[in-house]
Amino acid sequence: MTTDAELLAVAAEEARIGAEEGGIPIGAALFTRDGRLLGRGHNRRVQDGDASMHAETNAFRAAGRQRSYRDTVMVTTLSPCWYCSGLVKQFGIGRVIVGDDQSFLGGQHWLAEHGVEVTVVNDPALIATMGAFIHDHPDLWNEDIGEE
Ligand SMILES: [Zn+2]
Repeated sequence: MTTDAELLAVAAEEARIGAEEGGIPIGAALFTRDGRLLGRGHNRRVQDGDASMHAETNAFRAAGRQRSYRDTVMVTTLSPCWYCSGLVKQFGIGRVIVGDDQSFLGGQHWLAEHGVEVTVVNDPALIATMGAFIHDHPDLWNEDIGEE
């Protein structure tokens, strides 16, 4: 059986890849409940010039078509924004694992109210990575979360 930490490590590796590419260090992955990887990805706003390519979106698209999402788990290094929370709700993803909700708080409480199982890890390394990025790149960060 795969642990939450093992699932989160895949998302964290995606965040590192994104950072190495000069992008926003947020990673995500979609798994089945029993730990089979369906898709993984990272925020590609900078790399692709695409404001809609969030980490969760990238992982979701990489997973291709699934008959049902009820038994899938979206693992993300950062609390999912409203856009990605909408994706989770729209497709009925059953569970979300959040690596860090200290640097940013998206729609995770709303998801929990709508029956999604939400697990918050608050991994110190992820919080430190995101905090440093927000500190060093405030303009890029505000652009990513739609703040002016
Ligand atoms: Zn998002």
